[in-house]
Amino acid sequence: MGYANSAFDLLKRSGIPPYPQFYELLFTYATGVNPTLNNRINAIFRAGNTPSANLAETLYNEFLKSDVNDRMSAVSERMHARIDAVHEAIDGAMITANAYSGSLQTASGDLARDISPTAMKALADRLLAETRNMQETNASLEEKLEASRDDIASLQRDLDDVRRESLLDPLTKIANRKSFDEGMDTAIADAKITGDPLCLMIIDIDHFKNFNDSFGHQTGDQVLRLVAMTLKSNIKGKDLAARYGGEEFVAILPSTDLEGAIILAENIRKAIQAKELLKRSTNEKLGRITASFGLAAYRRGDTAGSLIERADRCLYAAKHAGRNKVFSENQLSELQSALPGVSAA
Ligand code: GH3
Ligand code: MG
Ligand code: MG
Repeated sequence: MGYANSAFDLLKRSGIPPYPQFYELLFTYATGVNPTLNNRINAIFRAGNTPSANLAETLYNEFLKSDVNDRMSAVSERMHARIDAVHEAIDGAMITANAYSGSLQTASGDLARDISPTAMKALADRLLAETRNMQETNASLEEKLEASRDDIASLQRDLDDVRRESLLDPLTKIANRKSFDEGMDTAIADAKITGDPLCLMIIDIDHFKNFNDSFGHQTGDQVLRLVAMTLKSNIKGKDLAARYGGEEFVAILPSTDLEGAIILAENIRKAIQAKELLKRSTNEKLGRITASFGLAAYRRGDTAGSLIERADRCLYAAKHAGRNKVFSENQLSELQSALPGVSAA
């Protein structure tokens, strides 16, 4: 209720019409779950303005409107229309087929009796006409089914596109949280069966809030794309790189032990640090960014949650140790035994 009241207050204060999408926008703002959205709205308030309906529309489209959902409903609507058309065509054909079967039955009754040649001719003519009619109906049904087959094939392709998109993060175009969750379940199930090693890498950009505050969110978004691409181009095969949320990324590394994962993480860390950032529009030098890394290896009995938690603890230790570092769970246990009583979590 607190979030809802706050959303209503903001709607009233800004004079934005209380349409569901604007309510959703300001409700999301009130919860604070989307820091980028909040920073944008806060900047408007800080400037002494209130968001206008136009701006609310733009923000809604940018942050909340899901193209995937829109496309899903469009595909679903077309699918329904197609199914209705097929039903209609089949119903029409059934009516004709039933009438034809009735005529054949009557004719066979007539033929069982002695009938005059004239009546015979009339019967043959009638059967011929009805057979032609039946043929036409069949041809038209075939045509309609053929059209449906093509349309359904194109719907199938659209659905595949929508499904692929629903697994991607719209900003960075790498796998999103949903595909990461699915990927973790598969990777853990595989590691259980094969006994192969499996590592999880969590990456968090260092001081990214400062970067956004200094250079703006759009430039921040560009950096997120750059980090995503750096991560993606350094992994291969069965590895899966995903945006975990905000400025955090993850990589699932099947058939990789902790030593291998450390080498990979070091390479990615150096590759991120090596990039000199330039603002595209002005060529302004933006310096460099760094990221911290946490690495955990699968142990028997691990769930996705327990593996993520250990990798996260390592990430925290990497931040604690000064950032721009890779921390793996064997170092974490060394650290803990060297400093008894100190917990990295
Ligand atoms: P630390 O080194 O401890 O990780 O510091 P930090 O500033 O990176 O961490 P913090 O969690 O305090 O802030 C994360 C920031 O990431 C907040 C927000 O400005 C930024 N951020 C999160 N998601 C996005 C996004 O989609 N786009 C942009 N531009 N920035 C984002
Ligand atoms: Mg973070
Ligand atoms: Mg960070």
